[in-house]
Amino acid sequence: MDSSEITIVLESILNTPTAPFHEYHVIGVIESLLESCHSARVERDSFGNLIVIVGPDNKDPKWIFGSHMDHPGFVELPDSECEDLSRSKFRDKFVFLGGVPDSYLDENFPIKEFGRFAMWDLPPMQIIEDDVRSRACDDLVGCSAIVSLIRHLDNNENDESFGAVFTRSEEVGFIGATKLAEEWPFKSDSCFVSIETSVPVNGTAMGEGPICRVGDRITIFDRDATESILIAGENHEIPVQRALLDGGACEASAMSAFGIRSAGISVPLGNYHNCTKDGTIDFEYVKLKDVERLVDLMIAMIKEFPNGPAHYSDIKHNKFISRVNSMEPFIENTTTLFSKAK
Ligand SMILES: [Zn+2]
Repeated sequence: MDSSEITIVLESILNTPTAPFHEYHVIGVIESLLESCHSARVERDSFGNLIVIVGPDNKDPKWIFGSHMDHPGFVELPDSECEDLSRSKFRDKFVFLGGVPDSYLDENFPIKEFGRFAMWDLPPMQIIEDDVRSRACDDLVGCSAIVSLIRHLDNNENDESFGAVFTRSEEVGFIGATKLAEEWPFKSDSCFVSIETSVPVNGTAMGEGPICRVGDRITIFDRDATESILIAGENHEIPVQRALLDGGACEASAMSAFGIRSAGISVPLGNYHNCTKDGTIDFEYVKLKDVERLVDLMIAMIKEFPNGPAHYSDIKHNKFISRVNSMEPFIENTTTLFSKAK
């Protein structure tokens, strides 16, 4: 996909402030970016997650791409009692929510207020050569990739159906994803694909393409879906890395706990949760090329497997049989060696 299609969307979404439970600005921006997409039906569920169905009415969406709209940040305290916050870090009227080690929070890096929440006072978004830098790549880059996918297919005659979800409050323990899983609005044979930014571990690297995540810190993901993602990449010549990304967890784990078939794809992320190797707070960053390839990969999945994940046995069965057939001369040549001595 042309990078200009993606950078327009990245600029709109990454420039939008967000924090756990305060995703209303991002919701508004995504809704306006999808306004002109005639093939997309956009709704909010009872919790405020955004649910989108794209494509013809007579087909059920089988791939449901999901990203979350929040990022670790400072939020106002609720009036009512909530769980013990004695170990939480406070700044003025705010409490910090999200997975950042105390040593980073103790640095007292400046924050910028947005009414009832605050973020690190960092540039919202910069593109420098192939680097996309932002105070919140996680997971606004994932949201931008899915919005770019919808806009692209809406513009380029698409006959297939697919779904998208943009969830709230992932950073405090998959709150939006859990609410969504409880009222899963799609068919039971649909497959949720978490679109995340993640620390590249276990042999993966930035700039080498999106990572098909076979699992996370909590669990492993659906075999058929994982195979289908890899085959879609292979058939469309998109470089795709494959790894267990167990440096963190994603919404696919929450979904799979509710029996929803789930898989994951990640864009390799630098400075995870704004934490640098030097112990300071700074921008997160991803490679623009990795984001482009992620969008290309989602398009390839929809085109290659419009009815959802293929069966692993169907994909691999013939491959294994043909391998046996190719080895037949060796099998024949050694058969007599295994006949029992008389
Ligand atoms: Zn995160």
